Amino acid sequence: MTIQLTFWGAAGQVTGSLHLLEAAGARIALDAGLFQGRRKEAAEQNRELPFDARRLDAVVLSHAHMDHSGRLPLLTRHGFRGPIYATPATRDLCAVMLPDSAQIQERDAEYLERRGKKGPESEPLYSLADAVAVQELMVGIPYRRVQHLRRHLRFEFTDAGHILGSASVDIRLTEGPGHRLVFSGDLGRSGLPIIRDPDPPSGPVDTLIIESTYGDRVHDSVAQGEEKLGEIVRRVAARGGKLLIPAFALGRTQEIVYALHALHRRGAIPTIPIYVDSPLAVDTTTVFRMHPELFDRREHLAGQTSALFDFPLLQYTQTVDDSKRLNTLNGPAIIISASGMAEAGRILHHLANHAGDHRNLILFVGFQAEHTLGRRIQDGADSIKVYGDMFPRRAEVETLTGYSAHADREGLRSWVRALGGPISRAFVVHGEAGPALSMAQLLEAEGVGEVIVPRQGESFSL
Ligand SMILES: [Zn+2]
Repeated sequence: MTIQLTFWGAAGQVTGSLHLLEAAGARIALDAGLFQGRRKEAAEQNRELPFDARRLDAVVLSHAHMDHSGRLPLLTRHGFRGPIYATPATRDLCAVMLPDSAQIQERDAEYLERRGKKGPESEPLYSLADAVAVQELMVGIPYRRVQHLRRHLRFEFTDAGHILGSASVDIRLTEGPGHRLVFSGDLGRSGLPIIRDPDPPSGPVDTLIIESTYGDRVHDSVAQGEEKLGEIVRRVAARGGKLLIPAFALGRTQEIVYALHALHRRGAIPTIPIYVDSPLAVDTTTVFRMHPELFDRREHLAGQTSALFDFPLLQYTQTVDDSKRLNTLNGPAIIISASGMAEAGRILHHLANHAGDHRNLILFVGFQAEHTLGRRIQDGADSIKVYGDMFPRRAEVETLTGYSAHADREGLRSWVRALGGPISRAFVVHGEAGPALSMAQLLEAEGVGEVIVPRQGESFSL
């Protein structure tokens, strides 16, 4: 019995999640995510698949975020025809996320071409047809249901509490002495609005693959996040500014809307218009409405499932014209728009339009990866480059950690403890160098036998 594990992404960085597991005669990809970061570099990393997609037997997908699912259409483009296992909510989210990703790439390519800035990074990675082909291969597997991949290879999903439908993967090989491999996926936090808390698998683990995004940090609580959000909205409204929130259309947008709703209901923020300027956010919100069975009991019992994301101040803008109208808005307003790391999408146009006004405020509510525009603004850049043009940045910049969808250091530690049994070996992925090292030290302190931070392309026999 040989088990081979190769790290083809999210190794030494947070994006591009893709781990290849070869066991029981099968070749299984855990995730197939996009690399994000320096445009040209990411485009090159994304374009090259590290193995023959036709020889892959299946994909087991942890959740719908692009850095975990965004290369699935590239697999189908290169001839992959096997099943893609995901929870039903992840499957439904991918049905809107992946076609959107294909269209963003096509639109960005056209835009760059019109501006005479055509280069290798402006070629779309895949087409809408490739994204649609992914959907035909998706198989929905609910949490805690055993799914067989081979006679001696099976897995089940458990709730990772990170975004709607997010899962950890508990894989068992029953040949010979047997082997249990747990892939954490991205881990969420206790007390996040809407979704449930993480529900880890339990018992002894031979091999653990664990994320480390915030392995070196402690977040504000969700309640502190809401307080700060209220304070920021009041401050910006008082000076007649616009509050720009780059947010992932999936998860963060719904949580921020939920928090603004709560703040407004108790009179903690003034009555100013809130725009969710992202057609994708409209579609992902629809998927939330389809899956009330995944909500926390609190929301479920309150009978709020259909009204959860709707209130009078809130407007969803669909068309490009509606979006452009936001450029000429008078008076204070809140604009929530994708993408979350300001890498693509409508938020770029809003930044170009509003970053120059000192009354405005750019608020980050999620992780900003190295080399993204979001990270540069967060680090205090006083001019920003959007589609090749420079714009001054005079708007104030703030970051809220209370809404992070990722477990912090203490959350990661409790998740590892909840696994319960001894852990023989752990691979630390999905973190930049500092956080990954901190996470490795944490795991050693928790008594894990062997801890490894794998490099991109590194392979291990288990
Ligand atoms: Zn994620």
